[in-house]
Amino acid sequence: MAKEDYYDLLGVGRDASEAELKKAYRKQAVKYHPDKNPGDAAAEEKFKEISHAYEVLKDPEKRAAYDRYGHAAFEGGGGRGPGGMGGFGGGGGFHDPFDIFREVFGGSGGGGSFGGGGIFDEMFGGGGGRGGARDGSDLRYDLEISLEDAARGVEKELSFRKNVTCSRCNGSGAEPGSRKVTCPTCGGTGQVERGLGNIRFRQPCPTCGGAGQKIDQPCSRCRGEGRESQTAKVKVRIPAGVDTGSRLRSVGNGEAGLAGGQPGDLYVVLTVREHEIFERHGQDLFCEIPIKFTLATLGGSIEVPTLFGKATLKIPVGTQSGTTFRLRSKGMPSLRGGSQGDQLVRVHVEVPKKLTDEQRTLLEEFAKVSGDADQPTEEGWFEKAKKFF
Ligand SMILES: [Zn+2]
Ligand SMILES: [Zn+2]
Repeated sequence: MAKEDYYDLLGVGRDASEAELKKAYRKQAVKYHPDKNPGDAAAEEKFKEISHAYEVLKDPEKRAAYDRYGHAAFEGGGGRGPGGMGGFGGGGGFHDPFDIFREVFGGSGGGGSFGGGGIFDEMFGGGGGRGGARDGSDLRYDLEISLEDAARGVEKELSFRKNVTCSRCNGSGAEPGSRKVTCPTCGGTGQVERGLGNIRFRQPCPTCGGAGQKIDQPCSRCRGEGRESQTAKVKVRIPAGVDTGSRLRSVGNGEAGLAGGQPGDLYVVLTVREHEIFERHGQDLFCEIPIKFTLATLGGSIEVPTLFGKATLKIPVGTQSGTTFRLRSKGMPSLRGGSQGDQLVRVHVEVPKKLTDEQRTLLEEFAKVSGDADQPTEEGWFEKAKKFF
């Protein structure tokens, strides 16, 4: 059966912007999501197709390849298409796209090339497998957390669908008890020769993927794939101080490899939700707090919320509206062990909109006692303004 055009699947034009694509995909994904259509195989199939279409079109490089080559860009052992699409064609990334949040970075991550197990590793691997083995794809999980969690650190359990090693064949792809036979395409060498005119070159065998052997009887559970889709639960510890865009890497929690390949890694990409009270500026937190004009005038103290409990803020006598106070070390912790940020509190002096008779009398009395004096700022302003009158 011919595959439906990806743009048609999403119901957008070929010139659709990224935002339009995303919107169209969400709409379709919600409509056909298996959770909403239990037991409906057609809806499930449609959902997979839509997800495939979106995974391709949202990536400018893949989209360009699709525009140029059509579906053929992503078929075969990754041998087609322009360079730099490493692993996209052949990678096992396109199975089971049930989790809307999941995205595949493509590429068979070259095992171990990421170096030390630090978080925030920004590298996403390319690179191929060896001798038929194919490393599992890295996965991405977008996680939104609160500012409180970002300030204190938190442990989260993520649940998502991914390909794991098949439990029946243990990843070999062969039905237990069956044999492997020499690949008829390459005669067991794992390579085939291709040529264009005088130029001959060798390529991994498309039939056996370079292994030199072929499965006689594919595993009945995974149909020879060596992997099956499963809901995985992964605990991640989010350190205090993370910000929107922070990435955590969970080694080996990506998709299972094929034929002995290494598993990919899971990347958790964080978004810190906006807070009702606090605005974040790097490590500092900023908030605005209304205070009574009497407090501003007479001085005193107020209780101020912080992400780490309440703090007391001293308001000096004669505090002006807009004055900013600094609460040391009540801001965001440093991810890399530096000093903690501060909380900046800007006070906003509120003038009462309504007065009781008693308040009015007292304030009028206050005004009378004050006379024209005792308003240095105002006085200075009138001095300057005189020039214009
Ligand atoms: Zn199997
Ligand atoms: Zn072969």
